[in-house]
Amino acid sequence: MTDSTSTSIMAPSGARRITLGWDANWKTSNPEIAFAGHSQSRTRLSLAEHISNYGRIPTGFTYSLVSDSLRVANLTGRGGAKFPFYKKLAAVYEADRKKGCYIVANGAESEPLSIKDSMLLRTNPHLVIDGLVMIAEVLGAKGAYIYVKDKEAHSAINAALRERRERGFTEAKVTVVDAPATYVAGQETSVIRRIEKGPALPKFSIERVAVAGVKGQPTLLSNVETFAHLGLILRFGADWYRSGRSGFDSGSRLVTVSGSVDRPGLYEVSSGVAIGDILREAKAHSVRAVLVGGYFGGWLNVRDENDLKLIYDDSTLGEKKLSIGAGILGVLSKETCPVVEAASIVDYLAEQSAGQCGPCIHGLPEISTAFARIALSSNVDRGITELKAVIPLVERRGGCQHPDGVIAHVRSTVAAFGEEIKLHKAGKCSVASSNHQSMLLPKNAQGNLAAASGR
Ligand code: SF4
Repeated sequence: MTDSTSTSIMAPSGARRITLGWDANWKTSNPEIAFAGHSQSRTRLSLAEHISNYGRIPTGFTYSLVSDSLRVANLTGRGGAKFPFYKKLAAVYEADRKKGCYIVANGAESEPLSIKDSMLLRTNPHLVIDGLVMIAEVLGAKGAYIYVKDKEAHSAINAALRERRERGFTEAKVTVVDAPATYVAGQETSVIRRIEKGPALPKFSIERVAVAGVKGQPTLLSNVETFAHLGLILRFGADWYRSGRSGFDSGSRLVTVSGSVDRPGLYEVSSGVAIGDILREAKAHSVRAVLVGGYFGGWLNVRDENDLKLIYDDSTLGEKKLSIGAGILGVLSKETCPVVEAASIVDYLAEQSAGQCGPCIHGLPEISTAFARIALSSNVDRGITELKAVIPLVERRGGCQHPDGVIAHVRSTVAAFGEEIKLHKAGKCSVASSNHQSMLLPKNAQGNLAAASGR
């Protein structure tokens, strides 16, 4: 990489790290929470603006320097798996000794409730590219890819790459690959197949992507937000990254908030803030429950304000069997039955099967039907019996994690809303309805639970 003249820039403080330089008119009352906006049509920051915000792109890293920094920074992947990034890097480095490797930034953003990856790539593609090419340089990668669903984000990345070429940067070549808008398109093996010009469908593989990914070569694959954090850590250091609220996860996070809120959109939050703090900035109202992490995440049952004091950090959420996942908080209002909402999501996920494995093709519709019976109080006992019978036939039997994600959603609903399910059994749920309009499903994906319950 050229153009390495160092420019002294103060490291960002507070929450606005990745979204530094984005429209600053979106004020919040909490310095640990930055509102990045609710529109997906943001303007791309030019290379000059990017360098003015963060300083020039540092160069000259060695593997051991980067590995140490990432270990100290304790950066975890931002796609939901929570895996320490330095371990992923080490796995590829070890496997790569003779073979050569590839680097992939995954911006498939399969979770319909998420806007973080598309907004990040539309607005700040240079920060993602910085992290990507720095890692490619350290590993001497054969190639680097950005896999992206959003068309405007695709254009923004291409414009950013053009700017870098015109500026004379000699860095790893980055190829942009389109991701289809399906739920399974973001799975690791789907990404690899698409990059190899195949269908974006999961493939059963006993080898990890870190060992045999793109073209059978070791591949470092992580969410696009992870690479943006890398771009910051390698500029400002691991100690800066860890600074802030001690005892919690490192750095900041991008979070998409939707549902029963007056200010939906993308937030950047420091580690250690409470879920209630984020919802306050999003102007949440009539909060009945929160879907934490996305459709493969879990439910927080909100009985009173104390439930919202839960710290938004993976260690704390883990104690409640929740996870930050894909950085999603979906707020459900008191006018909605959470069991019906969950059943609608499960029905949607059942339809999103890639249709390749028997347990998934046959098992997920059965799970959806059984769950719809419970949600609509049509035959709760039968639904519970059917769920108990079908789940063991599906769990861990698919070619990918899709069916297990659906089962996790069902289990989380049962664990969070046991009292509500008892009401359903007694036919006393006051808000369940067969023509329920989901708050957390995409508008074009509103299912028909009544049909599902009668299958
Ligand atoms: S488990 Fe389902 S989604 Fe995954 S590969 Fe098999 S059919 Fe496709």
